[in-house]
Amino acid sequence: MGWHPHLWHPTTQVATSPQPLRVRGAQGCELELDDGRRLIDAISSWWVTLHGHSEPAIAAAIARQAQRLEQVIFANFSHEPAETLATRLSALTGLPRLFFSDNGSTAVEVALKIAWQWWANQGESRQRLIAFDGAYHGDTVGAMALGERSLFTAPFQRLLFDVARVPWPHTHWGDNVVESAEQQALDQLDIALQTPTAAVILEPLLQGASGMRLVRPAFVRAVAERTRAAGALLIADEVMTGFGRTGCLFACQKAGVQPDLMALSKGLTGGFLPMGVTMASERLYQGFIGRDPALTFFHGHSFTANPLGCAAALASLDLLQADPERFQQFEARHRPWLEQLAQHPRVGRPRCLGTIAAFDVVAGASGYLNPVGKQIQRTCLDRGVYLRPLGNTVYLLPPLCISELQLQQCYDALAIALEQVG
Ligand SMILES: *Cc1c(COP(=O)(O)O)cnc(C)c1O
Repeated sequence: MGWHPHLWHPTTQVATSPQPLRVRGAQGCELELDDGRRLIDAISSWWVTLHGHSEPAIAAAIARQAQRLEQVIFANFSHEPAETLATRLSALTGLPRLFFSDNGSTAVEVALKIAWQWWANQGESRQRLIAFDGAYHGDTVGAMALGERSLFTAPFQRLLFDVARVPWPHTHWGDNVVESAEQQALDQLDIALQTPTAAVILEPLLQGASGMRLVRPAFVRAVAERTRAAGALLIADEVMTGFGRTGCLFACQKAGVQPDLMALSKGLTGGFLPMGVTMASERLYQGFIGRDPALTFFHGHSFTANPLGCAAALASLDLLQADPERFQQFEARHRPWLEQLAQHPRVGRPRCLGTIAAFDVVAGASGYLNPVGKQIQRTCLDRGVYLRPLGNTVYLLPPLCISELQLQQCYDALAIALEQVG
């Protein structure tokens, strides 16, 4: 075997990484490897697989749609799957306009460009953008600029526009300093908002890539109130938190906030097809309408509103809405296992939200390059569980279909892996 001569894998250093495992199929929670081994996909294949792999209802919806209309240019044309999806997502998010793109990064880029141009269309110069420490909004240049500066973004420093940063007062079980951390963050936000601000962007309730860092709903509400009071737009990046991941259909609902723009992707198609959408308020939409061509939102992707993606998204929504308890009650499934694991002296900052359970391994420095995560990954892999820790942050984010036995297998593997950290 060896590394393929013609492929280039994402965020992978070939000089130091083990070769990729070859997958021949996947069903439900399990990946089936070429050598016949089965692995539990405990991170939903980078947070996208929502119900389960090869979910029959979604597979069938895509197959039906592929025989009818696979793709059509979405300027000059419209179609039923796009219209139905827009109607349904509008009702669910409270944001009546849907703009299609291809992935999470583009959904964020579109939100940013809409916010920026909307102010220009209003004839008002608002140049400030505010984001949070540790934010991750995608890997394209605009989304990258909104995100935290890191090893990942360092080569592109000069391409990245300036963003005002506010601390992210993340919390965990047994945290008793969260109030003062929140107050400090809000004080900083108040200072940043004194400069006329176009938009504030956040990952509501949970920063994913920075290490599954939770904030309390009250903090998200306080950010939304201050943003509104300053007349700035609020962009909710729900690319990872959307579609039940946090125990509510959208994290904004759980936090009780209504943003002006919302970016969605990952779980949108149940994890079957790449698609992103940006939901927008009617006020923003109306700001682009008029006889002057300069008012137009000149942005479009070749695969805008791909009918196969729309069909997958509709089938996925059907499944979610038919059985909301599956995501609403997931947190209660994690809780007893995590409580038990949290007894281990190597488990720091245990935390849990909806389908996501996380902790930091207390060993060495924190951060993406801490090797302890790789060690835990190897031990769990040997026990049939696929994880991908973020530095020393270990988390489970399984598809909704995971059985009790499979969940137990994940926690058992983690307990053994923690023993081996020594
Ligand atoms: C994954 C992610 C993105 C980027 O989505 P891609 O589809 O990988 O481009 C943006 N924002 C958040 C919060 C994410 O988790």
